[in-house]
Amino acid sequence: MAAKLLIVEDEQALSELLRYNFESEGFHVRIAMSGDEAEVMVAEETPDIMVLDWMLPTVSGIELCRRLRNDPETRNIPIVLLTARGEEADRIRGLETGADDYVVKPFSVPELMARVKAVLRRAAPERVADVLRSADIELDRAAHKVTRGQREVHLGPTEYRLLEFLMESTGRVLSRTQLLDGVWGRDAFVDERTVDVHIGRLRKALVERNESDPIRTVRGAGYVFGERQGN
Ligand code: CA
Repeated sequence: MAAKLLIVEDEQALSELLRYNFESEGFHVRIAMSGDEAEVMVAEETPDIMVLDWMLPTVSGIELCRRLRNDPETRNIPIVLLTARGEEADRIRGLETGADDYVVKPFSVPELMARVKAVLRRAAPERVADVLRSADIELDRAAHKVTRGQREVHLGPTEYRLLEFLMESTGRVLSRTQLLDGVWGRDAFVDERTVDVHIGRLRKALVERNESDPIRTVRGAGYVFGERQGN
C-alpha cells in the first residue's frame, strides 16, 4: 500500500489517531484542518483518496465534495465522508454530492480502514495490490521483494520505490517531474538528472544477459514501464 491519503478533519485528536493508524498500514497521510486548506493541498498534490469530515469550519465537507466533483482535475478522487448525522436524508445527500461512501461518527478505526480500502480497491486496484506483476517481473509489497523469472532482483530503497511507482502506472508515460514527485516527494532537493541515474541503476539490476529492458525511454517525455510489444 503506497496510497496517498488526505484526511480533512478539524478535530485534531481524531485526525492524529487516523494518521497513526493509516500510516501503520503504509498510507502516505496528509491532514487538512479546514475545507480551504484541503483545496490548497489537493491542488498541490492529487491524493489517491480522501477522508472528508462533513462538519468543517469555513467550507463544509459537502461543499468541498461538490467543488471537487465539478473540477475535471479532481472529479475522480475517491471520497469517504465522515458524518455525525445519522439521518437517512443526510446520508443520501452526501452520496448525491458525489462521495463514494460514508461512515457515521462515532465509528471504529477498523471500520473506516475497511471502507477506505474497499473504495480504493474499486478506484485504483494497483494501489492496494500486494503483488504487482508485469510479464516475468513481480514486485511483492508484503515481502518487499522483487523477482524476475526465477531470480531475486536486489534493489536499493530508491530503486525499489521507483520500480513500484513505474509498475503502478504500467504502460503510461511518466515525466521526470512525475517520477520526482512520486518517488522522492515534492519537497526533495533533487534534480531531474537524479531520475536518470536511478533509472540506470534499476535497469542494470532488472536486466541480465539477453533479457528485455522493461523500461522504455520516451525522448522528450520521460519513461514508460511495460514489456515492449514483440518481445
Ligand atoms: Ca468536524
